[in-house]
Amino acid sequence: MIAKSKDTVDADILIIGGGIYGCGVAQAISAGGFKTILIEKNSLASGTSSQSTKLIHGGLRYLEQFNLKLVYEALSERECLLKIAPDLVSRQWFYIPVYSTGKRPAWFITCGLFLYYLLSAGRSKFKWLKKNDWSTKVAGLNTKDLKAVLAYEDAATDDAALTRAVAASAKTLGCKIFEQTTVESAKFNGSYWQVKLANGEQLTARVLVNAAGPWVNIVSKVIYPEPPTLNINLVQGTHLLLNRDCTSFIYTESLDGRVMFFRPWRGKTLVGTTEVLFQGDPEQVKPRHSEIDAILNTYNFYFPDSVCLEADILETYCGLRVLPEVEQAAFFASRETVIAFDQTTCPAYFAIYGGKLTTYRKESEKVLKLIKNILPATATKSTKEIHLDSVD
Ligand SMILES: Cc1cc2nc3c(=O)[nH]c(=O)nc-3n(C[C@H](O)[C@H](O)[C@H](O)COP(=O)(O)OP(=O)(O)OC[C@H]3O[C@@H](n4cnc5c(N)ncnc54)[C@H](O)[C@@H]3O)c2cc1C
Repeated sequence: MIAKSKDTVDADILIIGGGIYGCGVAQAISAGGFKTILIEKNSLASGTSSQSTKLIHGGLRYLEQFNLKLVYEALSERECLLKIAPDLVSRQWFYIPVYSTGKRPAWFITCGLFLYYLLSAGRSKFKWLKKNDWSTKVAGLNTKDLKAVLAYEDAATDDAALTRAVAASAKTLGCKIFEQTTVESAKFNGSYWQVKLANGEQLTARVLVNAAGPWVNIVSKVIYPEPPTLNINLVQGTHLLLNRDCTSFIYTESLDGRVMFFRPWRGKTLVGTTEVLFQGDPEQVKPRHSEIDAILNTYNFYFPDSVCLEADILETYCGLRVLPEVEQAAFFASRETVIAFDQTTCPAYFAIYGGKLTTYRKESEKVLKLIKNILPATATKSTKEIHLDSVD
């Protein structure tokens, strides 16, 4: 165990990245009594954590990959977030229109919903809508070849607001957060890390956590000794905010058979997402024309009386998923978080790869548990008990 001398280092733990994972870890380890510093190069939630579909969900589609463990864990985290962050996470009905031309028949989806219900311990109720209710629950829906509309319960949030609330909680627990500050390099001198910032300042810490999201392997290159890295794919996902009113959450198949959500966002319709392999600098990611077309075509199929053209797009945004490298399509890559560490080649260093917004709290508690093997904790408060207030 590394000797802990609070007098000689600036922090027990320094975290790189102010997305939901960096902030989640900051909160969990600050609650564990550790002196914590978080460094974010832009503003909190400026990366993937403001570019998601903003759902707190088990992920119905992961049942198709038989990833029951991920779905079960995410559903129990959903219940936890509904309890500790009621101002930020809300339970919603989601509607699934099923067409005779679709890839997934109604019986297949119903089996999935039943499994989802079981995995949620009965907290995701589901039903078939009566035909009379189709047009009231999902106004304007294309009814040609429409066989059924199923409904199930899940939850939604504002991802950036949730991240800022978690950061605020970490701050209250004593964490120091520096935004607009880039970590340039970090060197382990045998007993602690010397972390160089782009503004010329230096900080020292016993443990380093790389929570840089899509930048995780870029950051690991400026760390000495260079830690082993995981082979990853960055997969971009685009969303469009359309100038159309929206009151329901809708789970659809895009025209190529993948899952696409329509959801209310600032009174309008947010639609996404796509999955396209990305190569290059994460800073440069932007929606492609093919993605915009795919989203508009999907929307126009479901709402033919309210066709959207490019001129109806109010906003576009694009985020990067960090997925393990697989040969199949990104759809099949695991969404589970990997906490990578190797105490021999790079002691006192942890890197977080991938994961879901929904499971940030549980994964952050796992990082805390690993850190406790290196540094003794002085407190034992669980983030399960800490209420999150909106700070926006
Ligand atoms: C299109 C899309 C849709 C999604 N939808 C959902 C969903 O509906 N529900 C769900 O549960 N999950 C969803 N996810 C997954 C979820 O959004 C991510 O798991 C989560 O936001 C990742 O957070 P993060 O903290 O790891 O990364 P990020 O939010 O990207 O944070 C990393 C941070 O590190 C900072 N950084 C990088 N380098 C440095 C440096 N050198 N110094 C200082 N700071 C640095 C960056 O500026 C960034 O803010 C979605 C993901 C995508 C891409």
